[in-house]
Amino acid sequence: MTRDPQTRPFETVLIANRGEIALRIQRACHTLGLRCVCAYSEADRDAPYLRSADAAICIGPAPATKSYLNVEAILIAAEITGAEAIHPGYGFLSENADFADAVARSGRVFVGPAASAIRTMGNKVAAKKAMIAAGVPCVPGSSEALGDDAVIARIAEEVGYPIILKAAGGGGGRGMRVVRSQAELAKAAAITREEAQRFFANPDIYIEKFLERPRHVEIQVLCDGHGEAVWLSDRDCSLQRRHQKVIEEAPAPGIDREAIAAIGERCAKACRQIGYVGAGTFEFLYEDGAFYFIEMNTRVQVEHPVTEMITGIDIVAAQLRIARGEPLGFRQQDIRICGHSLECRINAEDPFNFAPQPGRIDELVLPGGPGVRVDTHVTRGYTIPSSYDSMIAKLIVHGSTRDEALARMRRALSELVIDGPACNAALHMELLNEENFVAGGVDIHHLERLLSERSAA
Ligand code: ADP
Repeated sequence: MTRDPQTRPFETVLIANRGEIALRIQRACHTLGLRCVCAYSEADRDAPYLRSADAAICIGPAPATKSYLNVEAILIAAEITGAEAIHPGYGFLSENADFADAVARSGRVFVGPAASAIRTMGNKVAAKKAMIAAGVPCVPGSSEALGDDAVIARIAEEVGYPIILKAAGGGGGRGMRVVRSQAELAKAAAITREEAQRFFANPDIYIEKFLERPRHVEIQVLCDGHGEAVWLSDRDCSLQRRHQKVIEEAPAPGIDREAIAAIGERCAKACRQIGYVGAGTFEFLYEDGAFYFIEMNTRVQVEHPVTEMITGIDIVAAQLRIARGEPLGFRQQDIRICGHSLECRINAEDPFNFAPQPGRIDELVLPGGPGVRVDTHVTRGYTIPSSYDSMIAKLIVHGSTRDEALARMRRALSELVIDGPACNAALHMELLNEENFVAGGVDIHHLERLLSERSAA
């Protein structure tokens, strides 16, 4: 197989991102002996990780549209600092195909898949079509964007209520609406279409069967430019609030390993079939023993560390090595799954209404000891800016069993001290002692059910 033309050796990487993922990418660069440039906004000028970068360059004022989403400023920063590659991290421009194109046109390497793959996966209807063609199971529903109300009504009837209307260009948990009967359908379709246009500049909507109690289970893949594609076990990210993941774990508890292997092989095969190069995640809903593809993320994910902990594979370093045109260097049969890992997202937020709480961290004590990893850019005295998300840290643990991982997470949380902004550490501790979560295998509505029971009490 010939080498992917978009991959080629480089020595200097510009990080077009901020916060913990900027530091995480910096660490991967330094582990590989690469030079690393951090692009930052004025709001991040005092971020501690800028000091450990080989160079740092301001790309604009605090609003993301003027800095972390400013393609021109980022490309100029790469030019000035001699960066031959750009790592987009997650969020911001990481799944923007036009940005990937612009990076390539500037003669640089985009650390991620080809713009065409990002474009296909960014449109959920196109992504589902590609997956059906590759033999990946999808949620029953329409395979085309739907415009006509009569067609929508017919397909909804065929699929069977309840259904969920979704924006083809949607993301971030927006542009979705559950419909339980035909009487609600026309109005719901009109609203969803209007939202789809307003949020995503694409009015296309489609229908899926609404699964009542699914789990969110995802498969991590890594594919090099030489035709090798592997899957790195699975993650369970069912504990969500408003479609935002709160606790993630790997592997997914209680799911037959042969079923996981079968779906993992399907994902790797799909990657080979579409010529995917880079890291990616296939997200599935899992209900009654069956997997249903919902979307593919063409970037590194917040929860990637739990996979790193059970496989020993540095996913961000692998992204960089793949982008440099190197072969993966291992095959599926070389991947060993060891133990269990959990991640708690520690956010600066009000414990009751979940409103973000930016502000100064007056005191910070991070946990340590066996099996504990903390991914954070935060130090004592750091001020969490109000312009971006409010994540303070990712607390990650590994244990030889799930029970040991749970015990280590409880212990790690009890060591954690954050004075200043309010945070969700107490909620995490509550969840780690909650009987159903401890038993394993809760569905995606579990956390919201708990929270509404709590507020009713
Ligand atoms: P986004 O790209 O906006 O995150 P997804 O398609 O990944 O959208 O869906 C986000 C979440 O919405 C899922 O994790 C799940 O909680 C819920 N969801 C999506 N599709 C369905 C479905 N067909 N049935 C039930 N819940 C769904």
